[in-house]
Amino acid sequence: MFRIAIIGGGISGLSAAFRLEQVRREGADVRYTLFESSDRLGGVMRTERVEGCLIEAGPDSFLSEKQSAAELCRELGIADQLVGSNDAHRRTYILVKGRLVEMPDGLQFMVPTKLWPTITTPLFSFGTKLRMAREFFARPHTANGDESAAAFVERHFGLEVVDRLADPLLAGIYGGSAERLSVRAVLPRFLDMEARYGSLSRAMLAAMKKRPLAANGPRPIFTSMKDGMQQLVEAVVAQLDPDAIRTGTRIQALGREDGEWVIAAAGVAGDVRRYEKFDRVIIATPAYIAAGLLRSAEPRLAGVLEATNYSSSVTVALGYAAAGYDGRGAKQDDGFGFLVPRSEGKRLLACTFVHNKFPHRAPDDRLLLRVFLGGSHDPDVLQIPDEEILRIVSVELRQILGLTAEPLFSRIYRWERSMAQYEVGHLERVAEIERLRAGLPGLALAGNAYRGIGVPDCIKSGVDAAAEALRS
Ligand SMILES: Cc1cc2nc3c(=O)[nH]c(=O)nc-3n(C[C@H](O)[C@H](O)[C@H](O)COP(=O)(O)OP(=O)(O)OC[C@H]3O[C@@H](n4cnc5c(N)ncnc54)[C@H](O)[C@@H]3O)c2cc1C
Repeated sequence: MFRIAIIGGGISGLSAAFRLEQVRREGADVRYTLFESSDRLGGVMRTERVEGCLIEAGPDSFLSEKQSAAELCRELGIADQLVGSNDAHRRTYILVKGRLVEMPDGLQFMVPTKLWPTITTPLFSFGTKLRMAREFFARPHTANGDESAAAFVERHFGLEVVDRLADPLLAGIYGGSAERLSVRAVLPRFLDMEARYGSLSRAMLAAMKKRPLAANGPRPIFTSMKDGMQQLVEAVVAQLDPDAIRTGTRIQALGREDGEWVIAAAGVAGDVRRYEKFDRVIIATPAYIAAGLLRSAEPRLAGVLEATNYSSSVTVALGYAAAGYDGRGAKQDDGFGFLVPRSEGKRLLACTFVHNKFPHRAPDDRLLLRVFLGGSHDPDVLQIPDEEILRIVSVELRQILGLTAEPLFSRIYRWERSMAQYEVGHLERVAEIERLRAGLPGLALAGNAYRGIGVPDCIKSGVDAAAEALRS
């Protein structure tokens, strides 16, 4: 019997467990145990229903072009539960000098691909538009070494595009800042484009020409689950061996003894400490927790893991009566939502109009907003009491949207140190982690600290970690 411990019951650990369950069902003599410190599985993936509205506390969807999440759904037999975003409503606004400005048509992330919308948009100044025109003639260039995403984007389009697009877009994905995030880790495709074409606009146009037309029209950009992301968690858990799941069990330390891994597990209160032995261990927690667990077994690996910074965030869901909302002068409620550049001096980073983004998220007579605060520039937001958070959100929504209606309900979710920051030098750090890990037989790592922060990346990391545990 081959014993494998999985530490962490977020989507990364659950994906690893599901892969091991599949192998077990195929007849392999494998036993896995999943340890989760909290009393629920899913980690940051959590859905609640409030007054007929479907609220995502953490991730609300995943990028459709990344296949591993849809693939997992197919294996679980729930592919019919996938829902695409309402791309007919896919408009995003950016707050510029206190006004919401629509992102111009043809903008691919921050790269303009259509002439007229780029010339006429009030999003960019005349100087930036000239710069974008010049960028079209940039010559191929291979960067040596890593640099920040901000430096890269500034090189192509100037500071204004960093401030109004790159920084808020990256804050939306990583909760981080363009000045610190590594271009090699977060925009690798753009680096390839630069090396081949020089101009990102020309490269993007060439890529769009080559893209095959999907038989049923373009794929929606985001995909979610009909009943919310927790549906995916529940579908995985339903397939696992119930005896293999230990919630409310915190792993406190890991050690090596006679070629085996010894795990020290405790109840959440730290009460009864138990030791168990395994042949393989998959650590699917944030990197700073993995560092603590590995401190005595491999201090050098623990040191590199600890160097990965994390940002914290707060999401706030607000439900409104549609009638009240319309009547209170909300200036903008079409599209998917808006982003707030840091230069606007607000605490809100972004707001999603949930009722527009996905079907059936709110009954017809309700509107559902979700706002984001925090990120690497505002870690203190986590300490603010609930009433004060609601006051800030209400003031800023009034300033931005003109919204004065009182919400029917609100929910606040705090995510402490949950988003790994892929800062400059990240890929070198991951290579070093990989090198040191390979020296520890039977250890695999999964989670959002290494090769992708999105849900599909985490699923892939779990599946790969299971394969590694079986192989080594
Ligand atoms: C607010 C928010 C919004 C997001 N939005 C999106 C989105 O829309 N789309 C997208 O693709 N991605 C999104 N992400 C990113 C994505 O959701 C995460 O990267 C991913 O879900 C992380 O999964 P995980 O299993 O690696 O980690 P986690 O979900 O953090 O799970 C780790 C688990 O380990 C457990 N644990 C910790 N220490 C121990 C221990 N000592 N012993 C046992 N268990 C332990 C924790 O309790 C936790 O359950 C979002 C993230 C956040 C926070």
